[in-house]
Amino acid sequence: MNFSDSEIVASVMTENNYETALSAQDSDVIFLNTCSIRDNAEQRVLNRLKQLQVLRKKNPALIIGVLGCMAERLKTSLLEEQRLGMRIDMVVGPDAYRDLPQLMVDAESGQKAVNIILSSEETYADITPVRYAAGGVSAFISIMRGCENFCSYCVVPHTRGKERSRNPDSIVNEARQLIDDGYKEITLLGQNVNSYAWKEASGNIPVDFPSLMENIASLSSQLRIRFATSHPKDMSDELLYVISRHPTICKSIHLPVQSGSSSVLKRMNRKYTREDYLQRIEAIRKIVPGCAISTDIITGFCGETDQEFHETLSLMERVGYDFAYMFKYSERPGTIAAKKLKDDVPEAVKTIRLEEVINLQQQLSLRSNQAEVGSLQEVLVEGPSKRSSAYVSGRTSRNKVVVFPDNHYKAGDYVMVKITGCTSATLKGES
Ligand code: SAH
Ligand code: SF4
Repeated sequence: MNFSDSEIVASVMTENNYETALSAQDSDVIFLNTCSIRDNAEQRVLNRLKQLQVLRKKNPALIIGVLGCMAERLKTSLLEEQRLGMRIDMVVGPDAYRDLPQLMVDAESGQKAVNIILSSEETYADITPVRYAAGGVSAFISIMRGCENFCSYCVVPHTRGKERSRNPDSIVNEARQLIDDGYKEITLLGQNVNSYAWKEASGNIPVDFPSLMENIASLSSQLRIRFATSHPKDMSDELLYVISRHPTICKSIHLPVQSGSSSVLKRMNRKYTREDYLQRIEAIRKIVPGCAISTDIITGFCGETDQEFHETLSLMERVGYDFAYMFKYSERPGTIAAKKLKDDVPEAVKTIRLEEVINLQQQLSLRSNQAEVGSLQEVLVEGPSKRSSAYVSGRTSRNKVVVFPDNHYKAGDYVMVKITGCTSATLKGES
């Protein structure tokens, strides 16, 4: 989402005659687009901001701005030079990027510039993002902003504000433009794409996520479509039928579970139980056979007992995830959990539990990759492999990375690849 937002920021700035520099050293203005999701994300940003201060010696007029969720969460406290031990010139929240040119006028005249007003309508629908994506193969389209689910651990509803959906016509037009520009893969983005809803469409026919997907899936047979992220409580059978009907929609679903224990899920305010979640997995298996399933997991949430933690491990085994993002719980100020629950799982226990889920996931990923050895897969080439220029790398519809010998392939080519081996992270193949 931040990657996509940075493309909007770049667009607003270039429209106003600023140019992108190749490095921080060559820049007169540096924006950091920030994340508040866990404390370590914020610490990394603060360290980076400190490092950037040395550039002021060479360029005293340098403007440094903090954009996005940290700006929204920490507000003008980011401007307190004494306390922070560094100078920040601009603080701009995620709904205020249209105001950047005006804020630049203030900052260039030596004033501090701040806009952290959240909007209930801003979707940047009419702004064509400047694409950074390498090779022009894959691009993001933001289809909605904000979140009102208020999972008790999560800072997003506090930093990104109310949920709002973007005009479907502007989404379809952006997808068409990307196809015309030669892009092959589009990922539709939102905090909870399944609750996408547009009520003022032409002819008064409301547009929901399955119908939006249907519209985009039919645009070109050369296209691949992905989406992130789905909240399990809103993952409908209707959407699964759309996925199964369209070869252009990738057979890979990210369905963050967070915990395998119904009591923890209740404390997390996730609004589904272990059984509800497993029922959704059954539906995916039945309606979209062979679909890859990935997830997010948090270890050591408030009050998590050994037994509750083991329910997460058993659920992971039961689902047999192809991939997972795994995190230790990090208390975020202002969230429901911070206000009402005790962050009482010791750090050492959070760490051991995280290692356990990582180890288990590695085995599950290996198992899932081994099952693909011997099969023939259509791979969308992304570019040279990181390890060797004699190889290229790309992804399958199931979102698996495949590395195979380069036969003069270009980024954006579809290649049929025979899978010959694997690790837990990568498939190897021959074309
Ligand atoms: N909207 C998406 C997730 C956005 S945040 C969804 O609901 O699926 C991405 C992931 O970060 C979450 O799924 C969760 O696993 C993790 N996360 C969020 N808040 C966290 C916290 N306070 N501590 C640790 N992990 C957290
Ligand atoms: Fe956070 Fe929950 Fe919203 Fe995802 S759905 S952004 S985890 S509050």
